[in-house]
Amino acid sequence: MRYKPFSYQERYGLRLQRLALYGGFTCPNRDGTVGLGGCTFCDNRAFHPSYTHGNSITQQIEDGMVFHAQRGRKADGYLAYFQAFSNTYAPLEVLRARYEEALSHPSVRGIVIGTRPDCIDDAKLDYLSKLKQQGSIVEVEYGIESVYDATLERVNRGHTFACTKDAIVKTFERGIPVGGHIIIGLPGETREKILEEASVLNGLPISCLKIHQLQILKGTAVEAEFKERPADFLRLDPDQYIDLLADFLERLRPDIAIGRIVSSVPPSFTGAPWGLLKQEVLLKRLENHLEERNSFQGIHLK
Ligand code: SF4
Repeated sequence: MRYKPFSYQERYGLRLQRLALYGGFTCPNRDGTVGLGGCTFCDNRAFHPSYTHGNSITQQIEDGMVFHAQRGRKADGYLAYFQAFSNTYAPLEVLRARYEEALSHPSVRGIVIGTRPDCIDDAKLDYLSKLKQQGSIVEVEYGIESVYDATLERVNRGHTFACTKDAIVKTFERGIPVGGHIIIGLPGETREKILEEASVLNGLPISCLKIHQLQILKGTAVEAEFKERPADFLRLDPDQYIDLLADFLERLRPDIAIGRIVSSVPPSFTGAPWGLLKQEVLLKRLENHLEERNSFQGIHLK
């Protein structure tokens, strides 16, 4: 492969299937702690699997296993993936109850926690590190979104990039694998800025990166902003996106595994759809594009 794909099989020697769960959390830029309204691009409803609605963690796991089995996905075990909202945004006792309910399920081998960098602290990280030492798989994924403070402010994140860096370093120092998530095409970011972002990310101890294009979802604040100031947005069709992604990966450390390169929500959520583009299809196009260039991830770092 000309880029490094993320693989649980490679990391743990097991075929692990993630089960997306709703842990009942919110975000500090939604509830008024650091802001209101959430990130301008966010509509979490678009990402909830149907089986998570209103059920206990145990029930969601059971339903999620059925959901994946019905689609013919075989697994040696499951990872409870706390995905929606900020899954460390609660007192430690609450986190402990949610995570340990998931870990007590006999088919669950570990937890993957998606969260914001300003929703973690030493006590929570020490607890996660202890869970890992006790034999559970524990991974944390931080929403980085952008390395530029001006962008973070514009999308109403409510934290800086320095905060992101600090959280990632502290998590890594405890031996917990850290992933990051970024969005390509946030308002005010040019092609050059996006490519420079790769060098900044290279300085972070992340082992996995999820990337996706900005999707302008109906009813979000970013949709209104796009209508008002379209010139501030880098709008890319799938071919242009793959081309930019190839440039980006050429500048990215080759050991950072790529977990995702596209986000596709149901068409009812988006006003300017690419259609429901499948991850596997775009990954194949990316691989072909890198091959045409006779290039690979990290080539410009040599
Ligand atoms: S922190 Fe995440 S879940 Fe919360 S508003 Fe922002 S993107 Fe949405």
